Amino acid sequence: MNEQSLFTAALGLSAPWEVASVQFDQEQGRIDFKLKFRRGSKFSCAACGLESQPLHDTKPRTWRHLNFFQYEAYIHADVPRTKCTACGKVIQVPVAWASSGSGFTLLFEALVLTLCRVMPVNSVAQLLCVGADALWVILKRHVTQARRQEDFSKVRRVGIDETASRRGHNYITLVHDMDARRLIFGCSGRDQATIASFVKDLKAHQGDPLAINAACIDMSKAYIAGVSKPLPNADITFDPFHIIQLANQALEVVRRDEVKYEPILKKSRWIWLKDQSKWSVKQSRLFKSLPKARLLTARAWRLKQSLRELFQTAQSAAEAALLFDAWYSWARRCRLEPFKRLATTLLAHRQGILNGFDSGLSNGYVEGANSLIQAAKAKARGYRRSENMITIAYLLLGKLEHLPRSPFNTRCSV
Ligand SMILES: [Zn+2]
Repeated sequence: MNEQSLFTAALGLSAPWEVASVQFDQEQGRIDFKLKFRRGSKFSCAACGLESQPLHDTKPRTWRHLNFFQYEAYIHADVPRTKCTACGKVIQVPVAWASSGSGFTLLFEALVLTLCRVMPVNSVAQLLCVGADALWVILKRHVTQARRQEDFSKVRRVGIDETASRRGHNYITLVHDMDARRLIFGCSGRDQATIASFVKDLKAHQGDPLAINAACIDMSKAYIAGVSKPLPNADITFDPFHIIQLANQALEVVRRDEVKYEPILKKSRWIWLKDQSKWSVKQSRLFKSLPKARLLTARAWRLKQSLRELFQTAQSAAEAALLFDAWYSWARRCRLEPFKRLATTLLAHRQGILNGFDSGLSNGYVEGANSLIQAAKAKARGYRRSENMITIAYLLLGKLEHLPRSPFNTRCSV
């Protein structure tokens, strides 16, 4: 096997394409493959599919390929255009190694997708010596193409969640299929219009809004109003994760007020907010040393813990109802304004909270998804546009079936 046919095989080329020459430049750290097609080859018309069309002209093109050892590899070819004898169109012949219009080979793009699942996009750009903007173009194109082929006809229970793409700005709404445990839709905004966009997208993927029988949402009024009309058969439930978030917000208000005259509470913020099982040794020690009988913050914490236990222990809506009513009357009498307000809010949504116990939607998926969303934000760092965040969220949480496979051994792919 000579050098040309060796590289023709290694690049996976098939007739009429083959490697014509290889140029290796050690100083520049690059290797350039020049491809050619056999003289006299005929190609199918890319517009109408008619076979054996004569060559019209060629256009020189270059693609970045996977590195060849430590050297950047480039593929060059004069890509033919046909002039169709049937439809009359002059059109470029598609090549097997790259998507139309892309300056990267498909294998290179598959590598980008693989790396961007585990690394921030900016780091991937540095590693591959490619501009981050070019990587975003690749990511968006593949995610869009893969999503186009998704089928949502089996979606029955959805979780609707919001997240800020930038601190306090640019809200994004994410919709999850709670049974398949995957992200199926994301868009910017968090109002009724976002639910309407979701329903439109659902229908475009063979989904049926009337078949959605449960929607797990947070307690924002916009969502509650937005869900009932477009998803008329969905029982609304509230996710424990969001309820505990509200309790944490109430607790933080109590602590911030109390720390003004109880300096002992300084630096204790995370103890109260974090799950007890996640405390460090130092945090456990600090907790033990605090005069909990006296502190209002400790009372607020007990109220939150009790709410958390309710979600962990209740086995049915009936059992949860008993525990909830007991919690409510405690919270109303607790003499902590933020918790009295929280109790009123939760009472107004009592049915939705209890619905979650029978529908089995309180399964912790939203909490797990939320930490992946935080990871997605880190990966989109520096590119906090909602669109970029949503693209990475699809990549991490979408379980998209039609993305290119990793160019490496799939048994150990990420
Ligand atoms: Zn044609």
